[in-house]
Amino acid sequence: MRRGLLLLALLASACATLPRADLGTSPPELAHWRDAVNGPDAGAEAVQLLSGYLQVNTANPPGNETLGAQYLAGLLQKAGISSEITEFAPGRGSLIARLKGDGSEKPLCLLSHIDVVPAEAKNWAQPPFSGYIDDHGVIWGRGALDMKGMGLLETLTLIWLKRLNVPLKRDVVLLAVADEEVDNRGMQHIVAKYWPQIDCSQVVNEGGMGIRDAMAPGQTIFAISVAEKGLLWLKMIAHGKAGHGSTPIPGRAPDRLLDALAKIRARHPEAVWQASTRETLAQVGHDVGGVTGYVLTRPTLQDWLAEGQLMQNPGTRAAMIDTVNVTGFGGAEEPNVVPAEVWAQLDCRLLPGHKPAELLAELVKLVDDKQVRFEVLYQAEANASTWDDPFYRALARHAIAGKHNAVVGPVLSPGFTDSLRLRPLGVRAYGFVPFATTQDETGGMHGENERVSSENVRDGLRVLFSAVVDVAALPGR
Ligand SMILES: [Zn+2]
Repeated sequence: MRRGLLLLALLASACATLPRADLGTSPPELAHWRDAVNGPDAGAEAVQLLSGYLQVNTANPPGNETLGAQYLAGLLQKAGISSEITEFAPGRGSLIARLKGDGSEKPLCLLSHIDVVPAEAKNWAQPPFSGYIDDHGVIWGRGALDMKGMGLLETLTLIWLKRLNVPLKRDVVLLAVADEEVDNRGMQHIVAKYWPQIDCSQVVNEGGMGIRDAMAPGQTIFAISVAEKGLLWLKMIAHGKAGHGSTPIPGRAPDRLLDALAKIRARHPEAVWQASTRETLAQVGHDVGGVTGYVLTRPTLQDWLAEGQLMQNPGTRAAMIDTVNVTGFGGAEEPNVVPAEVWAQLDCRLLPGHKPAELLAELVKLVDDKQVRFEVLYQAEANASTWDDPFYRALARHAIAGKHNAVVGPVLSPGFTDSLRLRPLGVRAYGFVPFATTQDETGGMHGENERVSSENVRDGLRVLFSAVVDVAALPGR
């Protein structure tokens, strides 16, 4: 680009700056409620109770979530809160509990899943269902991050509202569901049987969390998921004449499959910027300042100078394109037989606004082979919630309150959660586990040595409780 043009563009872009987010302020008349759950005692209790919850083995399969639901129900019971456990199959229970408000606003939901993914104990430094608390106060166990930690904080939020007798302007509903990690049958059961009674306007669930040193050393980015990509799971099946393995003949099924995959892998979709990505980058920019800050707070410069890097990183790349990921293969197993049919399994994820049927049509056209057909295994459209919302702002401002080098912003999650099912019901869904984790710690999610620090549990309780108070409580005495 010519220097004159570049200068002009720089000038033009300098005008369009994304501002520092206005997260509003917490109602001062509710400060006494927030302050009541911001101390070492509340934190120590949370740590002990989380350790207990992690000892309940709810690995899915088989799940046994009723045991987890009973654990939470026991804690609620001691505080005088009744709850209901409802099973979609024997042993597969979800829990619903509610604190009544005066009904002047629609209910607020605190959602978590009780099940966890399985864990191979031999690869862990501490047994995965021990709830072991080490000398540094770190609590070990499958589900510490995904997502019994959050489920416990949500349960304690209800318990503290009850203990303090906080008057509420809306119902606060606790939902801890079964089977999120496999088939989402717990949430489906709740939606089908209970939704008219729950009917909340906002929900907090998993999806985002705080990541230390994510973009700049020493800086923590608290990512609140406001959107989730859609999905299209496909089986791509190639057909041809069966034959003997000794004599390669063109056009047989395995060759066709390889050709189709080569075409799919050569696809280079253009980056599509999400408003959420721009917004969060701008918040990072405002925090770091300098030249980097100048670039990150201006959309035109984001496009020119940040897009390349974002497309290099698998995590951010997935938030900018429709992805097609090969996740499995199948066919005959005899080495000397060319089978008549072989298949590959594709996990495709779509940006908001992109339809599964359109991506499928694109793939069919790209492969351009009548003997390769696609079978849709599952599909769902992406969805998103606005972040111009009081509950989003409350979560965001408490996440960074009093912290240095802490930034908060909305993100699109490449994966999906039960929130994908709730947004079409008119719910604003926010994915946010209020822990600040290292990249090593987040590797424990679905991986080995999943754990969370006491500090995170204590601060997470403060963040969640304060945000719920801000949007649900009345001043009272
Ligand atoms: Zn999860």
